Amino acid sequence: MTERSWSGDVSAHEALGSGAEDDFLPLSERRLTVLSGPSGVGKSTVVAELRRAHPEVWLSVSVTTRRPRPGEVNGVHYFFVDGEEFDRLVEAGELLEWAEFAGNRYGTPREAVLKKLADGVPTLLEIDLEGARQVRRSMPEALLVFLAPPSWEELEKRLRGRGTEPEDVIARRLEAGRIEMAAEGEFDLTLVNTSVQDVCHRLIALMTDPQGVTTTTNREV
Ligand code: 5GP
Repeated sequence: MTERSWSGDVSAHEALGSGAEDDFLPLSERRLTVLSGPSGVGKSTVVAELRRAHPEVWLSVSVTTRRPRPGEVNGVHYFFVDGEEFDRLVEAGELLEWAEFAGNRYGTPREAVLKKLADGVPTLLEIDLEGARQVRRSMPEALLVFLAPPSWEELEKRLRGRGTEPEDVIARRLEAGRIEMAAEGEFDLTLVNTSVQDVCHRLIALMTDPQGVTTTTNREV
């Protein structure tokens, strides 16, 4: 498990953990942030709060073959497509990364992300572990943030409490959650989702004013 905190003058070099000079990039230039963590941890609540309170951050809208949940809007929460269209996007190289998760496919449209980054806009991807690994490989300068639940019991409670998925889907998501939890050490830092406001605050500070951040992780050492 990786614990990290840094003060303003510490570069992202250490956070990347590779030690290779080629990876050096000041925090202020690490405009692509990836938020990952087990299903049910509250990523979409964090993202919704960011969307509301911080319009200066751009959130990538993923493509998925999953059916919309009640209240989800096409083009806002996801672009909902069928399997055939997803195949086409993959074949055309239009996805920056993609992964299968609990029986559905999810991917990040490449062009929109690259354009925002070129314009210097702080950009956030909310994606699963496999996707985060692909971004790590293709864009090593990205900052990978792991959103952790306060406890495993809490995660299970949240996933069941959502009431939107049948038991077999919950079981698949919990199974995937165990794998995701074991991968925490692959991320640059962890934020524990004890409070949506706190997580948003730290995330925003990290993305928009990295020099002002003294402690980025909120996990107790
Ligand atoms: P949900 O079905 O609950 O909206 O999302 C299921 C999982 O897919 C979550 O872990 C979410 O972060 C992930 N996910 C959403 N969009 C993408 C994407 O574009 N790429 C990848 N790799 N995962 C995604």
